[in-house]
Amino acid sequence: GLFHRASESIPLHDSNESVSGSTEESFEFQAEVQRLMNIIIHSLYSNKEIFFRELVSNAADALEKLRFLSLTNRTLLDDNLENLKIQIEFDPEEKTISIEDNGIGMTREELINNLGVVARSGTLNFLEQLKDQKDSALIGQFGVGFYAAYLVADKVTVISKSIYSDKAYVWESAADKTFTVKECANQSIGRGTRVILHMRQDSLEFLNEHALRQLVEKYCRFITFPIYMKVESS
Ligand code: ADP
Ligand code: MG
Repeated sequence: GLFHRASESIPLHDSNESVSGSTEESFEFQAEVQRLMNIIIHSLYSNKEIFFRELVSNAADALEKLRFLSLTNRTLLDDNLENLKIQIEFDPEEKTISIEDNGIGMTREELINNLGVVARSGTLNFLEQLKDQKDSALIGQFGVGFYAAYLVADKVTVISKSIYSDKAYVWESAADKTFTVKECANQSIGRGTRVILHMRQDSLEFLNEHALRQLVEKYCRFITFPIYMKVESS
C-alpha cells in the first residue's frame, strides 16, 4: 500500500551509543515524503516565506490541543496553562531561526510517525497536482505543512517533550532521505516543541528582526496565542 504503518518503520542502523548514554537511531522517510521533500528542495523557489505560516500554525495547533485537553484533565489544568505561547528566535551567527511552543509536544513515537513515516493524504494530492504545476503556492493549499521548513533550511532539528512522556527527544534531518531520533541531552527542558531551522545560504534574508516581524504581521493575524520574539538587547 501507499502508507507504511508505524510498526513498519525500520531503523536503518541502531544503537550508536553516545557518551551520554542515549542512543541515536536513523530512519528512512516514507517514499512519498521523500518525493515531496525533493520537490520542495529542488523545484519550488517562489513564496519560500510560507515556511513561517506552516510552522507557526503547527505551534498554534499544539497549544490548542493542550488547551482542549485541559478542559477534561485536571492535572493539566493545574499546570499553568495561562502561559501558552509561541516564541520566535533567530541567531545570525549560527544562521538559525527557531519557532517554539509550550503546547502538547510529541513523544518519540510521534516524532517518528508524524515527521517522517506516515504520509498524510494531503501529501499524495499535492504530488498529484504538481505533475501539472510547479508552484509553492500549492504547498499552502494542500497544507503540506512541516516539510515547508525545507523551503528555507538545509537541516531541521526538532526538540520535543510531550505531556505524555518523561523524556525529551531530538529529531533531525538534512533531508538526505533519512532522519535521526535520540534522547535530548538536556532533560530539564519544559513541555512543548522547538523547531530549529538551519537556514540555507539562499535564505539568509529571513535572519533578522525586521523580516521576521513582517512574517508575523503577514501570517499570524489569526493566531490566538501570544507570539514573542527574542531579540538582542542593545
Ligand atoms: P498538519 O499540521 O496538517 O497535521 P504538518 O505536516 O504541518 O501537518 O504536521 C504534521 C504533524 O506533526 C502534525 O499533525 C502534528 O501531529 C505534528 N506536529 C508538527 N508540529 C508540531 C508541534 N509544534 N507540536 C506538536 N506536534 C507537531
Ligand atoms: Mg500543519
